[in-house]
Amino acid sequence: MKVEFLGTGGAIPTPVPGCGCRVCGQARERGVPYSRLGPSLFVHGPDVLIDTPEEIRYQLNRSTVSRIRACFYSHWHPDHVMGRRIWEMNKDWRGWPRRSRTTDIYIPSRVARDFRDRLGTWEHLAYLQTSGVVRLAELAEGESLELAGIQIRPIRLAEEYVYAFLFKEGGKRLLVAPDELRGWEPPAEVQGVDLAVIPMGVLEFDPFSGTRRISEDHSVLRSEATFRQTMDIAGKLKASRVVMTHIEEPDGLSYDDLVRLEGRLVESGLNLSFAYDTLIVPV
Ligand SMILES: [Zn+2]
Ligand SMILES: [Zn+2]
Repeated sequence: MKVEFLGTGGAIPTPVPGCGCRVCGQARERGVPYSRLGPSLFVHGPDVLIDTPEEIRYQLNRSTVSRIRACFYSHWHPDHVMGRRIWEMNKDWRGWPRRSRTTDIYIPSRVARDFRDRLGTWEHLAYLQTSGVVRLAELAEGESLELAGIQIRPIRLAEEYVYAFLFKEGGKRLLVAPDELRGWEPPAEVQGVDLAVIPMGVLEFDPFSGTRRISEDHSVLRSEATFRQTMDIAGKLKASRVVMTHIEEPDGLSYDDLVRLEGRLVESGLNLSFAYDTLIVPV
């Protein structure tokens, strides 16, 4: 298996239009690896896409992806679903009778429930299903499936509306947790994976100086895992390698800052790095 990072930003991709900050300025001037589009990645092997942010069309066009066997959605949040129109690419627009392609979309049960009353997502996907370009499949709690000989199992997080995905191929294991690790205690079945992809969390403190960046009273600290909490979770995962993604513009770290931070973390004995758009990591 190989993981291709299509977009490594979070809800606030970099650069933000009109923003004059250093991080956005560099991103605008230099592009990748400084700029980051919305959260999405592709697992080569099973050829599975995880989540469709609004920039997914552009992300796929610049990627090495040539065929999508299936898509999994991790949760209902707008930064993970708003590129749903991408499935129209399957449609045969001019041939008659039409020979459209159909992509299987797997949706864990709780996510399917949320899709039904959030953002019109279910209505939109059902419309696409009627056009024959997707086939929707709800996954019951605890259900896993096999694609191209690779077992894929959705794992519900402590934030119960969000799922991570565990991929197993022979002796190799990959964990992809797109977002929302707050309060999560990694269960035994995901510990010791070969590669864990996890969100970076919000920077409550500057990772270099230790000074507070977010007020203790800020509501984001009650809804999101912090970077320190995420580092804790990374330790408990005992993964051979950890790659952090879902990197938010307001956390104020440029690509160069992250490379510097990576250096420090590696010195402390962790095999941890930060993803950037277009990065490919073998499992
Ligand atoms: Zn997100
Ligand atoms: Zn900015």
